Amino acid sequence: MKRALLNIDYTYDFVAPDGKLTCGEAGQALEGEIVRLTEQFVGDGDYVVFAVDVHDENDPYHPETTLFPPHNIRGTTGRSLYGKLQDVYEKNQDRDNVYYMDKTRYSAFAGTDLNMKLRARGITEVHLVGVCTDICLLHTAVDAYNKGYEIVIHEQAVASFNEAGHTWALGHFTNTLGAKKGE
Ligand code: ZN
Repeated sequence: MKRALLNIDYTYDFVAPDGKLTCGEAGQALEGEIVRLTEQFVGDGDYVVFAVDVHDENDPYHPETTLFPPHNIRGTTGRSLYGKLQDVYEKNQDRDNVYYMDKTRYSAFAGTDLNMKLRARGITEVHLVGVCTDICLLHTAVDAYNKGYEIVIHEQAVASFNEAGHTWALGHFTNTLGAKKGE
């Protein structure tokens, strides 16, 4: 079983106290676990993907422009990975099992080459960490399910600014997408 860790949107804007669309303390509390898992997957030679939202401010053609405050704007520090995860990325970014990719929609598969990268490496199981549980994690998990990947959710490494949505999505991953719980 070849596996990949999909690190979704753990950026300053989504996590920091003054981030533009922050999950607040629930997001900040994940830092240690996300760093631990990322270092473990990198060290084990598994594929590690950083899938990071990018937007252009006031883009009239983007559906999120009217749905959310501006966030993860291209070229801003709001797109930096949060806390120590940025250091872990910088330390390992030249490894051939580490891949940083922009995404412009909730799902990391939408309009990206992620599926081809995973298929080319024979990866059949994706492990999901990051934010937000009920938005980008959810849409990425649904796409992974439809493409036939096994899904593992690390519940101690996902969060949302919507607690009810977070709780609902955790149930959906397990009950409807057949996800296993990560350790
Ligand atoms: Zn976005």
